[in-house]
Amino acid sequence: MARISHWIDGKTWSGVTQRSGDVYDPATGAVTGQVDLAAQSEVDEAVAAAERAFPAWRDTSLAARSRVLFAFRELLNEHKDELAAIVTAEHGKVLDDAAGEVQRAIENVEFACGIPALLKGGFSENASTRVDVYSIRQPLGVVGVISPFNFPAMVPLWFVPNAIACGNTVVLKPSEKDPSAANFVAGLWARAGLPDGVLNVLHGDKVAVDGLLTHPTVRGISFVGSTPVARYVYETGTSHGKRVQALGGAKNHMVVLPDADLDLAADAAVSAGFGSAGERCMAVSVVVAVDPVGDELVDKVRARMGDLRVGDGRRPGCQMGPLVSAAHRDKVASYLDAGVRAGASLVVDGRGHEVDGDADGFWLGPTLFDRVEPGMSLYTDEIFGPVLSVVRAPSYDAAVELVNGNPYGNGTAIFTNDGGAARRFQHEVEVGMVGVNVPIPVPVGYYSFGGWKDSLFGDTHAYGPDGIHFYTRTKVVTGRWLDPSHGGVNLGFPRND
Ligand code: NAD
Repeated sequence: MARISHWIDGKTWSGVTQRSGDVYDPATGAVTGQVDLAAQSEVDEAVAAAERAFPAWRDTSLAARSRVLFAFRELLNEHKDELAAIVTAEHGKVLDDAAGEVQRAIENVEFACGIPALLKGGFSENASTRVDVYSIRQPLGVVGVISPFNFPAMVPLWFVPNAIACGNTVVLKPSEKDPSAANFVAGLWARAGLPDGVLNVLHGDKVAVDGLLTHPTVRGISFVGSTPVARYVYETGTSHGKRVQALGGAKNHMVVLPDADLDLAADAAVSAGFGSAGERCMAVSVVVAVDPVGDELVDKVRARMGDLRVGDGRRPGCQMGPLVSAAHRDKVASYLDAGVRAGASLVVDGRGHEVDGDADGFWLGPTLFDRVEPGMSLYTDEIFGPVLSVVRAPSYDAAVELVNGNPYGNGTAIFTNDGGAARRFQHEVEVGMVGVNVPIPVPVGYYSFGGWKDSLFGDTHAYGPDGIHFYTRTKVVTGRWLDPSHGGVNLGFPRND
């Protein structure tokens, strides 16, 4: 049985842990490892290593820092298949999907490789007579990154490359459900030449999270997870004087207008609804069919679902893997009974879907409900599984009202051939990331990722320009080099003449 321990100060931690947790292969149901669950003393050790590494790392030249990033990018590229296999083994998503996750992670490393240009400040010559004003960006210090189970490689790498590139040192607390990817990535950073202590991986649960949120040395926290925990992390971290960005859960609506290409829309709904077994924060979980397309669209979605191959993500041809744990599978399955009881129409019942995998895996096939109403738990809750709900809307205005009335605001999409309608939608919709005929509009690495409303707490989005902003403090210098014209004592407020 593999022991999965912390990575502190450039090596695997060799201490004795008080608590540990089981790690599963969701496709077989077998326990494959034991992950250390940090106590406060282990949090302190990780933070102390990051604190020791900070002064030298912040003073490392931009050229040297970017060389480490380039080297890390090469190593990640070289080992992307191994990393994808690690993700599949503990998360369950199919290999191809895991490879896509790793590719999107690499995008963020490539963005951070441009750090010398990204950290440029401003300069105003002669802002006042013979006085220059310039701004510089400096790192925060030790920052914490706390990530969810559903993207064990990509989400940590939304944050870590930018944080490190800006000169910070990091304690990463990955999900305890699939912890191995973080250790593998930490090893690659070390091989890329990152000095010991600049990146530390601390495994654990609430104890580790609370330890980071309240630690006086930690200056900033980037969190991704469910909305209740995101809200808690934001409130606790900020009340302890930290800068916090906390990305939460989602209920993403895909609006289909009557003029849309319904085959394209049905392909998109199935792909975005059931990819990664619906365990994506950008998954489509609600299709809003604007009259009169409902019946035809539901038929087309149903027809595509029967062909989906569900099974062990390592087996060729499987398109959808298991859910992450037995408990999560059971919770998701409970929504099927609740939906039927509430009066929604169960079009496809995933419990009967054929599976190409071990009988003990955490399986649930793709499920489709039609005529879901806003008050039903199918609609109100983030289910985070392969359950797609269709809500019928009488008009475009009713569809937008529904999206805007939802407390979440992570992603949304509109399917239409009407450019004017799409333009109106992008203007009116209260959601942070919008797709036009694109069902999963995850921004590229040089934009930033983030939702609105209950999908994000804090002021800055993740990665891209917002990431650089989050991981730096600006300082403005007003300077004058003495020349013969200095004017002597003046107690008035400085004026710019
Ligand atoms: P989660 O909230 O259960 O866990 C996230 C992290 O918080 C983990 O590291 C976990 O150890 C820790 N944690 C869990 N409970 C805690 C508690 N009570 N106190 C302190 N820390 C705690 O989320 P998850 O189940 O791992 O991930 C799925 C959720 O993440 C979904 O809601 C999904 O929408 C969301 N998500 C959001 C985004 C986004 O960008 N908005 C991206 C990916 C996932």
